[in-house]
Amino acid sequence: MKNRGRKFLSFYRPYLGLLAIDLFCAFVISIITLVLPLCVRFITGTLLPGGSPQPLADLAIMGGIMLALVAVHALCNLFVDYQGHMMGAMMESDMRRELFAHYQKLSFSFYDEQQTGQLMSRITSDLFALSELFHHGPEDIFIGILKFGGAFLITMSINPQLSLIIFLFLPLMLLFAYYLNRKMHAALLRSKQRIAEVNAQVEDSLAGIRVVQSFANEDREQAKFDRANARFVESRRLEYKSEAVFYGGMSAFTQLMTVVVVVVGAVGILRASLDLSDLITFLLYVGILIEPIQRLTNFARWYQEGGTGFRRFMDLLELQPAIVDADDALALRPVSGALELQDVSFRYQSDIDYVLKNLSLRIGVGEFLALVGVSGVGKTTLSALIPRFYDIDVGRICLDGIDIRKISLSCLRRNIGVVQQDVYLFAASVAENIRYGDGAASQGEVESAAKKANAHDFIMALPQGYQTHIGQRGIKLSAGQRQRLSIARVFLKDPPLIILDEATSALDNASERAVRESLERLMHKRSTLVIAHRLSTIRNADRIVVLKDGCISEEGTHDELIAKRGQYARLYQLQLEH
Ligand code: ADP
Ligand code: MG
Repeated sequence: MKNRGRKFLSFYRPYLGLLAIDLFCAFVISIITLVLPLCVRFITGTLLPGGSPQPLADLAIMGGIMLALVAVHALCNLFVDYQGHMMGAMMESDMRRELFAHYQKLSFSFYDEQQTGQLMSRITSDLFALSELFHHGPEDIFIGILKFGGAFLITMSINPQLSLIIFLFLPLMLLFAYYLNRKMHAALLRSKQRIAEVNAQVEDSLAGIRVVQSFANEDREQAKFDRANARFVESRRLEYKSEAVFYGGMSAFTQLMTVVVVVVGAVGILRASLDLSDLITFLLYVGILIEPIQRLTNFARWYQEGGTGFRRFMDLLELQPAIVDADDALALRPVSGALELQDVSFRYQSDIDYVLKNLSLRIGVGEFLALVGVSGVGKTTLSALIPRFYDIDVGRICLDGIDIRKISLSCLRRNIGVVQQDVYLFAASVAENIRYGDGAASQGEVESAAKKANAHDFIMALPQGYQTHIGQRGIKLSAGQRQRLSIARVFLKDPPLIILDEATSALDNASERAVRESLERLMHKRSTLVIAHRLSTIRNADRIVVLKDGCISEEGTHDELIAKRGQYARLYQLQLEH
């Protein structure tokens, strides 16, 4: 808890100068607000009753002074509203930056459990409340206390009885404001949640728009949307109702105080314990008091909301990535690509069964090893262990004879190229997507990688060639084209070890040929682990390994395994018949 407090304050560190000026301006604003009624009091109480030999000249001076005060007040307000908010926004962006950097480090096992939408709101809307707290927090407390205290002292010195009457109202008002503020807060939270539901609904419908339209189910989607939308309006009703009671109540309180001050003050004037200028002064201070009350209750709200945001922020930030570099992590160079798994066991969670049990496997430099087995047996899982997307529980995985846990993650992953069945492409141009394999590659290198991946020709046929934008997730390309871009990426990365996980399974025969040709080029002279669904694609593997129940059940070349008449031969026969 103490650490979190320190962490919170640490975000102020780069902006201490700004914070000091901000607070100074807040101080000036409060003082000027308190002094202006005193100027009025001097005019009505001293100048007007004839307390000055040249009243017009003095009045001109007082007018000038008040004008100057108002100008300074306006400037300070400008600074607080503009720079103060900017300070909050910059601190918010610092936090966002830190959280995003942290997101990038968290492991697959974390993302297996999380919803992307949730993580997005952690980093966007949750932090906004904090930005307000950062900026308004210190300032609201400061201005609130100064104005209350100042007004109390000044009015006490003029007329203690009337002052006490006014300040008896204050606890009542504070209680009222606090209670309603909480209600407003709850209503606000609810409507935020409802708008999030609307968002999720729209996102889901739009992401699936192709399915929606192909089933002609627009009406059904509209009905779902209408329900979420109506719930949102209902939550807004609650929000505006409590808001109306709050603001209405506050102004009623102020008017009530004004009436009380006028009546009690008039009685005082009749009894000659008070004069007219005292009464005017009191009325002016009543007008001032409402503002700090609102500030303090606002603060209470930002504190609650920002506090929640900060707790969530810290919960995420304090989460250690499951997989990190060892202190003495090595960067191997160059890597030749020999891979060895020794007695590897792995399960995703401690309360579920092992997916791989005591598995040992070797891939020599430049060797082509194929891994087959029924769906769900753990082939993808095995391939995810090699780049350390998950860490193994038992055993060792070695690259070039060195335990991969001793190699730095960036070095390890730079030396492994993975091509999967579903390709992720970014919403960017073709060239940018290929360059993902090597950010420093020249246009010539990008094109030569594309040529090796059999992608150059279709890229040149696109409207803007390499600069063509391929849409979200590469939606404007066919599956085979997407796959060839992802292969071009790996060509550019040029790793000594590659893993192909059912890279051609989803493709039709024509595009499979183009992809397979480019894959063969990619495998040339590299250590390769191929996970194949279609056994015809791995006939010329150096070795084929059959995975069953988390263990290797058969191993050998295609011909050896066929001759053995085991599981592989059965699978192969089955596919031939189709
Ligand atoms: P294959 O690639 O051979 O079809 P997988 O390696 O994808 O099989 O899956 C092996 C087993 O591990 C399956 O039973 C699957 O349900 C489980 N599994 C896969 N991914 C995860 C995950 N991220 N979390 C928990 N279990 C998983
Ligand atoms: Mg798989």
